[in-house]
Amino acid sequence: MSEQSLFRVEDLRLSLPDLVGKSFVGLAARIEILRGISFTIQRGKVLGIVGGSGSGKSTLARALVRLLEPTSGRIVFDGQDISHLDEQALRPLRRRFQMIFQDPMSSLNPRRRVKGIIAAPLRLHGLTGIDRRVDEALDHVGLPRGFRNRYPHELSGGQRQRVGIARAIALRPEFILADEIVSGLDVSSQAQVLRLLEGLVAELGLTLAFISHDLSVIRRLCDDVMVLRAGQIVEMAPSAEIFAAPRHSYTRGLLDAIPLPTLDQPGWN
Ligand code: ADP
Ligand code: MG
Repeated sequence: MSEQSLFRVEDLRLSLPDLVGKSFVGLAARIEILRGISFTIQRGKVLGIVGGSGSGKSTLARALVRLLEPTSGRIVFDGQDISHLDEQALRPLRRRFQMIFQDPMSSLNPRRRVKGIIAAPLRLHGLTGIDRRVDEALDHVGLPRGFRNRYPHELSGGQRQRVGIARAIALRPEFILADEIVSGLDVSSQAQVLRLLEGLVAELGLTLAFISHDLSVIRRLCDDVMVLRAGQIVEMAPSAEIFAAPRHSYTRGLLDAIPLPTLDQPGWN
């Protein structure tokens, strides 16, 4: 059974032990980091998630792909409530939703060659034809196949992030969650990685959630934009609406922070 929305999130709440605040050992207070979040992600769409530092973007991301368990509320993936599934039950689903992380240097094993990095999740999920899949993934992200034998430190930041993308798409997932994946890159590498991602979404029919603190990056890529603040949704609307007429002063503040030349540019070049 499949339904139109790939993800449906209902009143999601998530508390974590407060490791930062002052509390006595053994009496760690819990702080609510996600405070009642509801939204859907439609198949084939790109959802942008923006918000200032500490607004809960990464926590929401980790909850969506069930690296964290919700305290209450529901996360429904393709009609199935995954909110409290255990690791064994999640295993077959994990192949269908992949996450790409902010910092490729720390998310790529420095002791492994590129081929080993891309192959690891393929082996984990028991896939065959690993060499072919690794080559195809490299082709998809525009890296020469000769890069199979390189180590992460032999790559530029943009190339490392391509390897992170290759590792995610090699599994042929339906959904990719990208958390601040261009934040550490220079402007021209950012543009290249974003163009690549845009192409892959179209080519592979991916559904994408793209997290960034930078609205200018979100602008061209996303169909819809969710604005997060302090663990709650401030507003969520089609991208064009958010940029033309943000309803909330918080969103206007984020927009005001974009340098004008960037905002005026119709696309990346
Ligand atoms: P963002 O990605 O938007 O910067 P995060 O989701 O990383 O925000 O963090 C949201 C809030 O949750 C922050 O206030 C952060 O300090 C807090 N937080 C994140 N992880 C933990 C944790 N493991 N324990 C306690 N607090 C955390
Ligand atoms: Mg974050």
